[in-house]
Order: sequence, then C-alpha cells, then structure tokens
Amino acid sequence: MSRSRVHQADLKRFVKLALEWGAHGARVIRASTVRCEPWVRLKCQFGCGGYNKRLTCPPFTPTPEETAKAVACYKRAILIHAHDNDVINEIVPVLEREIFLAGYYKALGFGSGPCYLCERCNINRRCKHPEDARPAMEACGIDVFHTARVNGFPIEVVTSAHQQGDYFGLVLVD
Ligand code: SF4
Repeated sequence: MSRSRVHQADLKRFVKLALEWGAHGARVIRASTVRCEPWVRLKCQFGCGGYNKRLTCPPFTPTPEETAKAVACYKRAILIHAHDNDVINEIVPVLEREIFLAGYYKALGFGSGPCYLCERCNINRRCKHPEDARPAMEACGIDVFHTARVNGFPIEVVTSAHQQGDYFGLVLVD
C-alpha cells in the first residue's frame, strides 16, 4: 500500500474516532483554512470573564501571530464540532494522543472555552493536568467562526439561553 493511501486511511480513522467519542461532526481540513486574527485575543481580554483565570486562556496562551506561525507548519488538521464544550475538551487531548501514537509526531490540539478541570487553576505555577488541558482555539487567536464556516460547519452567534451552541476543537496533524 502506498504511503498516501495509508495516510488517507489514518485520517479517516481519526475522524471516525472523534465521532465515536461523541463529536457531532468531524472533518479533515486544510490547515491553511485556519484563520488567526489579532482581534480574537482582544475579545478574550475585554468581555470574557475567563481572562487571566486559566492557563489555557490569554494572557498565558500563544498570541495570534505565534499561532499563525505554528499553523503554517502544517498541511492537514481535524476540525471537530459538538454542541457542548465539555465534549470537545474531552475528545481533543485523547485524539491528539491517538494521532501522535500513529506516528504523526507534530499532532497538536486546541479545545474550546476555559479549562475547568480544576476548581482553581494553578495560574502562578504549572498546569496540574498537562496531559488533558489544551488551550481553546479562540484563546490562541483563531477565528473559530470563519474557520468553521469555510469548512462547511454551522455556527451562529448565540443570542438566547435557549439557543443551541456550536463548539469546535482542532487537532493539527502534519
Ligand atoms: S488542568 Fe487545572 S491547572 Fe491546568 S489549565 Fe486546567 S484548570 Fe488550570
């Protein structure tokens, strides 16, 4: 079997795993469609109660410029959609590990929203669960709305408590 056919089979398996683990949708995307913008970090800084409270949020996370440089090192990624933040944040580190162990040594995951694995985040020291905590896409300056829409996923601004939310996670593959 050629290397490219093996690769396609691997990517399909990663998508299948994300779906089996509870994702509403998952898709292989081109990493070049992941958009990073300076305004995203400002939305975290002004208007989000999570700012400066979790190691997975600004100001502890990479800037949009740093993230854009990192994303530029990749060709493919898996974008994961769910209607619950927790589902995304449970899948991402496990999928990242699975992809890494399959030989894709650059695998790198991003979750959704602040990390609530600990009641009080260890912000003055190290993360207490580095194997499970991943920074949110938006916390690293990724425009989640654009990235989701350009890849065919639905996402709208949530305007009421009754509206179902759309949440996304990302694993950069290779
Ligand atoms: S696992 Fe705990 S210490 Fe690490 S980012 Fe999450 S809340 Fe903070």
